[in-house]
Parts: sequence; structure tokens; C-alpha cells
Amino acid sequence: MPRPSPVRIALFGGSFDPPHVAHQMAALWAIATARADRVLWVPCHRHAFGKQLAEFHDRFEMCVRAAAFLGERGEVSRVEEQIGGESRTLMTLLRLREERRGASFTLLIGADLVEERTRWAGYDEISRIAQFLVIGRQGAPRPGQADSPPLPAVSSTSIRARISRGEDVSQLVPAAVLDHVRARGLYGWRT
Ligand code: ATP
Repeated sequence: MPRPSPVRIALFGGSFDPPHVAHQMAALWAIATARADRVLWVPCHRHAFGKQLAEFHDRFEMCVRAAAFLGERGEVSRVEEQIGGESRTLMTLLRLREERRGASFTLLIGADLVEERTRWAGYDEISRIAQFLVIGRQGAPRPGQADSPPLPAVSSTSIRARISRGEDVSQLVPAAVLDHVRARGLYGWRT
């Protein structure tokens, strides 16, 4: 009997503080053009450089809401919470490979991380066991190196700043995510 082909997982790591429309576009692009079967959103537990983030359970819930439009092809992982501390990409990847035997992994990263990734702990091992798919990002160095055209210039940083100033972000953040921000009063949300 022919063996079933492996599930192709696009591993999409980030702070997702909060997830925004460019994240959704990146996930859609990975499925539409790079033949990913599933996009696995992996919110970090803590930021690698000690940046203060909204609580994990809020960011996890917002990722669930942002990924919902992908139906069965979207999934959100708690793996970095389970590992605890500041998980490194290699640890996350090894844990996920254990959990999902036979799956193949592609790391979905913005073009702003292309240069930084070579300094990640275990980069050589990471690139032996996973491929990279680079999402074009406006303002990133060498955008021509990306696999996708640049996505809209949206960032979680600018969204947090806008919310704290009481500005409208409804065109930048999925509506269901914004409902959660509002309900939890995140980022200094003013009613
Ligand atoms: P922050 O502003 O807090 O640094 P961010 O908007 O970069 O956040 P992350 O959660 O860090 O969001 O992003 C997760 C992944 O998505 C990263 O690989 C990042 O490069 C990529 N990404 C985020 N926004 C865009 C965008 N507008 N275009 C292309 N890639 C993006």
C-alpha cells in the first residue's frame, strides 16, 4: 500500500501581542501557495529578550480567534507554554516533531527575521530538520529575498500604541480578536 504523504505543517511562531491581519494573510499565503496543509500558530510563552507581553492565555485565545478563519487548517499550539520559560525555536521544533511523528515542518517567518535567524541557538540543526518560508515585510532589509510579496505594513507594536491612544484599529485586527481586547481591557483599551 502506498504510504500516506506526510502532513506539511507551517510552524508560525511569534508573540502575537496581538495577532493582526498581516498574520492572517501570511497564514493564508502559506496554504495557498506553499501547499502547507496546516498552519500551526505557536505563541511564545515569554519573549526571548525579556519584553513584557500580555498574558499567555490572552495571546493564546486571540490566536485561536485569528486562526479560526482557516477552519481545520488552522491550529494554535501550547507547546511553548508546556516547555516553559523562554523556549528556543529548536526546542519547540524538536518537541513538535516528537508529538507529530511523520509530519514535515516549515518555519514561517517575516523577512525582518531573515538575518537574525542565523544567530538562533541551534540554527544549523533547525535548518537540517525544517525549511524556511519567508514572508515579505515592508521595511525589512533585502525584501527581494522573501518568498512572498511584502504584506501590508501592520505590526503588533503599532497596534498596541494605537489602542493605548484610543485610536481605531478595526481595520488592522480581526474583529473577534478585537472583541477579546475590549473584553479584557488589554493594551490600555478605553471604552
Ligand atoms: P511586534 O511589533 O510586537 O514585534 P509583529 O507584528 O512583528 O510584533 P509577531 O508576533 O512578532 O508580530 O510576528 C510573528 C511573525 O509574523 C514574525 O515572523 C513576523 O516577522 C511576521 N510578521 C508580522 N507582521 C508582519 C507583516 N506585516 N508582514 C510580514 N510578516 C509579518
